[in-house]
Amino acid sequence: MANAKRTHTFSESVIREMTRVANQYGAVNLSQGFPDFPMPESMKEAAIAAIRGDINQYAITWGSKKLRNAIADKYQRRYNMPVDPETQLTVACGATEATASVFLALFNPGDEVIIFEPFYENYGPDAILCEATPVFVPLVAPDWHFDADLLRKAITNKTRAIVLNSPHNPTGHVFSRDEMNTIAEIAIKHDLLVITDDPYEYILFEGEHICIATLPGMADRTITISSLSKTFSITGWRLGYAIASAERSTAIRKVHDFLTVGAPAPLMEAAALGYSYPDSYYQQLSDEYRERRDFLGGPLRDAGFKFATPAGAYYFFADFSDISKDDDVTFAKWMAREIGVATVPGSSFFRPGAPEGKKYTRFAFCKQRTTLEKAVEKLSKLKAMV
Ligand code: GLN
Repeated sequence: MANAKRTHTFSESVIREMTRVANQYGAVNLSQGFPDFPMPESMKEAAIAAIRGDINQYAITWGSKKLRNAIADKYQRRYNMPVDPETQLTVACGATEATASVFLALFNPGDEVIIFEPFYENYGPDAILCEATPVFVPLVAPDWHFDADLLRKAITNKTRAIVLNSPHNPTGHVFSRDEMNTIAEIAIKHDLLVITDDPYEYILFEGEHICIATLPGMADRTITISSLSKTFSITGWRLGYAIASAERSTAIRKVHDFLTVGAPAPLMEAAALGYSYPDSYYQQLSDEYRERRDFLGGPLRDAGFKFATPAGAYYFFADFSDISKDDDVTFAKWMAREIGVATVPGSSFFRPGAPEGKKYTRFAFCKQRTTLEKAVEKLSKLKAMV
């Protein structure tokens, strides 16, 4: 018997595949975006204590009360955004599951969902899994700004939502207040939802992180998704969440319940502690990322890559066309094998078959200094080899 048709319409994650390619060739892994440095010590201790303290059974489906309270409190303090932890917040197994649950809970077959391109590869399959149609609106290179006219042109009477991701993966673009206001204005005019995926909200070098839900008229039409993975360097803990109106949260919680029942109970307990860290924790997080960005950025330019300096998140989305005329997959695999640096081919951030991604490759710089030093040393061979 054949596998279900829906599984034929999207492919395996290229980001995850490139980590396997990196391991195969023993390459420095700058592909999948996960930190290779330790998480905060006190959260490790809190997780061990939670397990020893017998917090090892299912938590409440939509998240342990302690963690929900901590998240709601963060939104109030940091963004002046009221969130009712009892009715508006659903903790899930990562922003990945939160996003899939939101799509499955809110879209019907045939609904159109606008996605800015390039985009984090999950949004396409998320749309396909609920039989919605992804409609792609280009961000404009080289600085990846968004063009309001292109967005307006993409809207039809089937459009239900706009997916926003700022700071943006893979380009590092941080949507400005003007851009956010325009998106809000369009969403209100056409009665659309905005699903915003904010896992890099604390990794910001330029500009400010704006929660679009806080703009006038947006609270009820926004679903705010974020993750603890990048903020606390715990991508393997699988903790993320979705904030939505109480009515929408009821649907999101139902989907989440039958997909996973809930996120890991002892880890939720421990993660709540993270939100009690002082502001200096977050300042240090983004300062250290800025140092990593600046350390790798120069050598990448020297090697011949072209890119907009990321204003947030932890990636360089680099145009390699001055180095090689190969397509992105050939180039990324060659780099992993021959140079010893693994990256993610650009086409994984564009719709299937799109030509635009073929001259890009993505470098992740969420790595410790020694890892980046090794990468820089290997990249210095690049010029001599092409
Ligand atoms: N968001 C990270 C990336 O873009 C990790 C993706 C993943 O494997 N979940 O690389």
